[in-house]
Amino acid sequence: AKARGRSFSQFYTPALEGRATRMLMQEQMLRNAVERGEFELHYQPQTLIQSGELAGFEALVRWKHPHRGLVSPNEFIGFAENRGLIAAVDRWVLNQACRQAKTWQDDGYLPVPVAVNLSAQEFRQRDVVQEVAQVLDDTGLDARYLHIEITETTLMLSGTHMQQTLHALKSLGVGLAIDDFGTGYSSLAYLRKHPIDRLKIDRSFVSDLPHNPDAAAIVNAIVQMGQSLHLEILAEGVESPEQLHMLRQMGCAMMQGFLVSAPMPADRAAAWMSQHCQM
Ligand code: C2E
Ligand code: CA
Ligand code: CA
Ligand code: CA
Repeated sequence: AKARGRSFSQFYTPALEGRATRMLMQEQMLRNAVERGEFELHYQPQTLIQSGELAGFEALVRWKHPHRGLVSPNEFIGFAENRGLIAAVDRWVLNQACRQAKTWQDDGYLPVPVAVNLSAQEFRQRDVVQEVAQVLDDTGLDARYLHIEITETTLMLSGTHMQQTLHALKSLGVGLAIDDFGTGYSSLAYLRKHPIDRLKIDRSFVSDLPHNPDAAAIVNAIVQMGQSLHLEILAEGVESPEQLHMLRQMGCAMMQGFLVSAPMPADRAAAWMSQHCQM
C-alpha cells in the first residue's frame, strides 16, 4: 500500500524493513533504471518576453518507476547524488536531449537549443568536455543547439579546473547558463572568470513578484547587471501575467514558466511547436 509520507524511501517498503535495507533496494532500483534507461524527458519552452517567440527548451528528467509511475526529479536527484548515480543519469539525459533536438530539426521544426542540467558530480567524476563532444558527434547536433545549465554551487567546486572546463565547453560552441541564479554564493567574481552566456533568475525571486519590493529590487538588479555584462537573462517560474508584465518593464529578455507552458513530453512539445512557431 502507498505510504502516507511522500519521502523517497517510504514508498512500497514493508514497515518492518530497516532503513538501510530500504535505501539499498531503492539504490538497486535506480541502478537498474540507469542501466535500462528508464527515464523520460519533459521539455519546457523558454521564450522571448518581447515577442513570445520560442528561444529553446529545457530538458527535465523523470524516472519511469516500475511501481510509482513518473517520479519527479526532486524526489530522486538528491538520492542519486548521494549514491553517486547522478552522473549516469545526466549522461543519459544529455544523450537523449541532443538526439531529440536533432530529430526535431531533421523533421523541420524551428531549430532551437535544448538546455540540460549537469550536476556537480558530472564535473567531478568525468571528463565533461570529452563526453559532450562525443554526444554531439554521435547525435550530429550542432553545438550551438546545446545549452548546459549549472548551479553557482557547481561553479564553485574546487579542484575541478572549472575555468578550463568551461572554456573548453565554450570552444566546442555550447551555451552556458547559471541555474537558480541568486541562491548560491554571493561573490560575483566568477561572472568575469567564466565564459557564461546566460543567468537564470531563480524561481524564488520571480514567484514573489510583483508585490514584494525586495524581490522586485533583486530581479531588477540582476536584469541591469545582465545588460551591462552582456549576459542573457531568463526569469524562471513565471506563472502570472502580472509577473510577466513586471519582467517586461524591467527589460528582462527571456522567460520560462507555467504561464507559457509546464514541461511536456516530447510529442506534446512537438505539437506545441507546430502551434506556436512559424516554420
Ligand atoms: P530546475 O533546473 O530549476 O528546473 C526548473 C523546475 O521548475 C522544473 O521542475 C520545472 O518543472 C519547474 N517549473 C518550471 N516552471 C515553473 C513554474 O512556473 N512554477 C513552478 N512552481 N515550477 C516551475 P522539475 O522538472 O521537477 O525539476 C526539478 C529540479 O530537478 C530541476 O530544477 C533541476 O535542478 C533538477 N533536474 C531536473 N532534470 C535534471 C537532470 O537531468 N539532471 C540533473 N542533474 N538535475 C535535474
Ligand atoms: Ca535548470
Ligand atoms: Ca533553475
Ligand atoms: Ca531549481
